[in-house]
Amino acid sequence: MGAIHDRLGLVPVINASGTMTALGASRVVPEAREAVAEILAAFVDIAALQKRASRAIAEATGAEAGFVTSSSASGMVLGVAAAMTGADPAAIERLPDTQGMKDEVVIQAGHLVNFGAPVGQMIALAGARAVAVGTAFDVQPFHLEAALDERTAAAMFVVSHHVVPTGQVDLATFIRTAHAQGVPVIVDMASEYDLTGAVALGADLVIWSAHKFLGGPTAGIVAGKHDLVRAAYLQHRGIGRAMKVGKEGIAGAILALEAWGRRDHAAVRAGEMKIVEYWLAALAGVAGLALRVLPDWTGNPIDRVEVTVGEASGLHAWELAERLAARNPSIRVRDDMVEAGVLHLDPCNLDAGEAALVSTAIRDEVEAALARGDGRRQTFGEFRAANLADALSFPG
Ligand SMILES: *Cc1c(COP(=O)(O)O)cnc(C)c1O
Repeated sequence: MGAIHDRLGLVPVINASGTMTALGASRVVPEAREAVAEILAAFVDIAALQKRASRAIAEATGAEAGFVTSSSASGMVLGVAAAMTGADPAAIERLPDTQGMKDEVVIQAGHLVNFGAPVGQMIALAGARAVAVGTAFDVQPFHLEAALDERTAAAMFVVSHHVVPTGQVDLATFIRTAHAQGVPVIVDMASEYDLTGAVALGADLVIWSAHKFLGGPTAGIVAGKHDLVRAAYLQHRGIGRAMKVGKEGIAGAILALEAWGRRDHAAVRAGEMKIVEYWLAALAGVAGLALRVLPDWTGNPIDRVEVTVGEASGLHAWELAERLAARNPSIRVRDDMVEAGVLHLDPCNLDAGEAALVSTAIRDEVEAALARGDGRRQTFGEFRAANLADALSFPG
């Protein structure tokens, strides 16, 4: 931390929230940083670079082919577009006008979530229409079967902590049911570690973020069946032009994928567990806080510390998160469950020194709040409204 923040006049951030796109997602691995710096100073045939990416993606995922796009969000749009146009160049140039094409994308109601933008909007952006099946907490194979018909271009499945965690059709059943009607399946698993499982189950297109756990630059990795990958890539002759990735993103994603394959995952996990243990010790005895280790709820190999922020801390969970963020350096914790009174501390982007700053800051903020007696004043609704107002205030 330091030089670049000083030069740009920015407050440095300690990221205890995980691989959040809004915080720069991850520390890019050295191999990818070097590749980015090198290729930025050179010319390259982009199509040849994407063919090289296809080989790296096939190697890492077991898929037939792949390419790099600007983000997972754009991968979702391009995948839907591909399912509608195939490799027809006229259809590709015509989107988002879908006249004469199958243009429905079937998706479980509990998967129509917001990952930073609505999933359904990514479907609509290609010109398609999202058809929700079932209800939020109850989707069964018969709901899916009833919705698959001659208008269905694709079925989309989302793997994420954002989706409704129960009552959905599992991926294997989802793929089997869609394939029985000849419908291709697009899987968005932007922040999942598993690079091979969905491909092995027969998913036609699978999407990950290069900038999340892979430690690459901002980009999306698209892998899948040869023809659908080709059709998705060819969207760069149409709507994909507005979502293109540059040479630096493609090269960086390739190097990040290859580095992932060589990474000592057990050693990384052991380092993360050390931070978790450290936090449990460092935060024990802070007034009002209850701690437990929470395994990742989509099965990624990562454990986080769940901090329940009780009344005796003098703060609501959202107030504690906000006060941590207002510090310099700004400390960002995982706050998507604050309404339930809990924060999560994620070790994956931290070194030991930063981890210590996180727990020290939490202790300080609780002690300061108890001394001032000014916490537990803001309702969750007020916090949410203030957060939205802040987000909408750009550029200030
Ligand atoms: C992060 C995320 C996205 C968006 O990824 P970007 O690469 O930032 O566009 C989409 N879907 C899910 C499930 C995500 O977690």
